[in-house]
Amino acid sequence: MSSDNARVTKPRLVIVGASFSGLVLTHELYEHYDITLIEKKDHFEYMPLVPKTLTIKGIFKEKAALKYSQMLSNKNSLLGRAAANGLNFIQGSLTSLNVDGKSVEVQREGTDSTENIEFDYICLCTGAKFDSPISNDVTNLDDRQKFIEEFQEKIEGSESILVVGAGATGIEIAGILSEIHSDKRIGLYNRDPKLLPQFGEAAHEIIAEKVEAAGITLHSASGDFDPNGDIAK
Ligand SMILES: Cc1cc2nc3c(=O)[nH]c(=O)nc-3n(C[C@H](O)[C@H](O)[C@H](O)COP(=O)(O)OP(=O)(O)OC[C@H]3O[C@@H](n4cnc5c(N)ncnc54)[C@H](O)[C@@H]3O)c2cc1C
Repeated sequence: MSSDNARVTKPRLVIVGASFSGLVLTHELYEHYDITLIEKKDHFEYMPLVPKTLTIKGIFKEKAALKYSQMLSNKNSLLGRAAANGLNFIQGSLTSLNVDGKSVEVQREGTDSTENIEFDYICLCTGAKFDSPISNDVTNLDDRQKFIEEFQEKIEGSESILVVGAGATGIEIAGILSEIHSDKRIGLYNRDPKLLPQFGEAAHEIIAEKVEAAGITLHSASGDFDPNGDIAK
């Protein structure tokens, strides 16, 4: 028997999305599956650092983002090990999924055409949906950096900043803003007068005390935030 015939064909697995879920799956499965990993961005962004990258200069590329091309060429990285074992990484967007026919159509970044990829198994790791500025449709690392720098310019040029939404992310952003822009008025708007209501009354009291000590003004009103309303002014 030739060595080609003896080689065991691995099942084909398509993973869509190369953030936390897609990367971990790739790492766990690359030895057992013939993986095609599809990701529309050219870089991984570490979401927990977004409140800091939006408000503190010079840390986005250094600490919070990494190009997939760098990861793929580094044999010691998670993606590099998978690439050395035959991982097929495509920077592009999933445009359609044919479940019965077991195939996807993918539009490679920078092209108008789509290509068809067949699979035995598929994992959709297309993840969480965050609104701008936390995340947006920018797929290119340099453009994301530009967006972040323009956002920081707007912060610098303002006298007062209102953070809308006092969940964990909003509270963290307001806290950082009050630390590094102590000359500006920082407000925090929440529909619910209780902060972090999902963690109970005790959490509200601890956070509300810290928010007040940081000089952040709390606003709340029933209904959705009105960008033309009194609080926004
Ligand atoms: C400020 C902040 C702090 C956080 N802190 C924590 C924390 O401390 N601990 C924690 O566990 N979680 C934290 N989270 C939540 C965490 O970031 C998410 O749970 C996590 O990002 C989800 O990972 P995911 O891989 O499922 O999806 P995502 O991270 O949303 O990734 C989805 C990927 O799929 C790609 N994609 C989407 N659609 C397509 C398509 N059609 N074609 C190709 N690619 C596509 C996207 O480009 C993206 O790379 C935080 C989130 C934020 C915003």
